[in-house]
Amino acid sequence: MTKRMIYLDNAATTKMSKTAINAMLPYMDGVYGNPSSLHSVGQAAAEALANARQVIADCIGASPNEITFTSGGSEADNQAIISAARAGEKKGKKHIISTAFEHHAVLHTLKKLEREGFEVTLLDVRENGIILPEQVENAVREDTCLVTVMYANNEIGTIQPIKEIGEICRAKGIPFHTDAVQAAGHLHINVKEQNIDMLSLSAHKFHGPKGIGVLYAKKGILISNLIEGGAQERGKRAGTENIPAIMGMAAALKDACNNIDADAKKLAELRNRLISGLSEIPHSVLNGDSEKRLPGNVNFCFEGIEGESLLLLLDDKGVYASSGSACTSGSLDPSHVLLAIGRVHDIAHGSLRLSLSEENTEEEVEYTVQTVKEVVEYLRSISPVWRDLVNGKKEFLIK
Ligand SMILES: *Cc1c(COP(=O)(O)O)cnc(C)c1O
Repeated sequence: MTKRMIYLDNAATTKMSKTAINAMLPYMDGVYGNPSSLHSVGQAAAEALANARQVIADCIGASPNEITFTSGGSEADNQAIISAARAGEKKGKKHIISTAFEHHAVLHTLKKLEREGFEVTLLDVRENGIILPEQVENAVREDTCLVTVMYANNEIGTIQPIKEIGEICRAKGIPFHTDAVQAAGHLHINVKEQNIDMLSLSAHKFHGPKGIGVLYAKKGILISNLIEGGAQERGKRAGTENIPAIMGMAAALKDACNNIDADAKKLAELRNRLISGLSEIPHSVLNGDSEKRLPGNVNFCFEGIEGESLLLLLDDKGVYASSGSACTSGSLDPSHVLLAIGRVHDIAHGSLRLSLSEENTEEEVEYTVQTVKEVVEYLRSISPVWRDLVNGKKEFLIK
């Protein structure tokens, strides 16, 4: 029997779609010019670049001149935060509001600013993994120069009240950035209606190529460049544009946005089946709100097991999953996201994230539920911790 391949790690990265690949090919082969060149090969590339910028702007309700291409989500997050900090600093404002469960591209940038004397308030994300707009309102100070709250979390998939947070920031004149890397292509985005001043997205999370992303910045928001050099991207991001990747990203985003409702419905059905199936495992708990979560995200903790062992055994059976963020896998630190929603270390270690794509099938989901059940049972049968729990020497933390 050939080994099965059930890819359930789409929050880490996705397979490129044929649409995205086909959109890229002409720009690697025929139209390979530099958009800054004045000859016709260059100008053909410049025209393609302008079209892609328009397509992406249309997908998020922005104008093309509000779109800056970056090397991905991390760079867009860094640039948004650093830009707001530099603008704030000039006015003597050095306070930033964010949440405890942001992506490391945000948290580590905030750490860097703290070392420079900025003050950062990280809001508590509560047990359901969702902050309340009031928490932002209460944390705002005279010297707040930025609020940055992710649209949807990459580990537990919870969706934040972005529009309401944006409204509060708008009323107080504070720039609002959202890391929409997990949301893009899965949840509707309209930067105007949702009061968003800056937004990050990354192509490889919606079936586009890796190494390309977008920073949206509303007209009037000052962006400082992280990379010095040529005058590309209106002087905000030097370096010859990655035209093939940009074309692939535009095609992938357009595709995702055109199918967003149908795909979300399909994913949510598969997700709900995974959730109900895995909930049957004794002493297990779903992480994050059961409803306000990405249509393709499932995240569980199982008491008495190690997430790493679970992943290896699942891999053996052809199920490719994750314990949480790709950045923490491989280290022994439990996920900062699970700690932020109040899971203790021992429980946070036994986590499993399954993130779906439109290509997954019902049959794959059934196989996965069955396989996870078997593997968890097996790991518990050989676990000394589990024996202590069953014998009453230790108390179960998950009922
Ligand atoms: C993947 C991810 C990023 C980083 O994007 P890259 O393009 O890989 O740099 C940032 N934020 C979130 C929420 C992500 O899921």
